[in-house]
Amino acid sequence: MAVVCPECDNPITVDADEVEEGETLQCGECGLELEVVSLDPLELAPVDVTGYDDEEDTPVADEDEE
Ligand SMILES: [Zn+2]
Repeated sequence: MAVVCPECDNPITVDADEVEEGETLQCGECGLELEVVSLDPLELAPVDVTGYDDEEDTPVADEDEE
């Protein structure tokens, strides 16, 4: 299975059997880090490494209810 890097459009081959949700992959072309946010369907989201300084201040609410 392959997804396309949102940064450089490079196809990234991901073996869904070998990754877990929350795992981070790296684009071989541009080095962008992509977090596996969903396995079915396979979905990757860019990890904004430089913007994570305030993460510890983010209030964690239980957003399970919908
Ligand atoms: Zn890329």
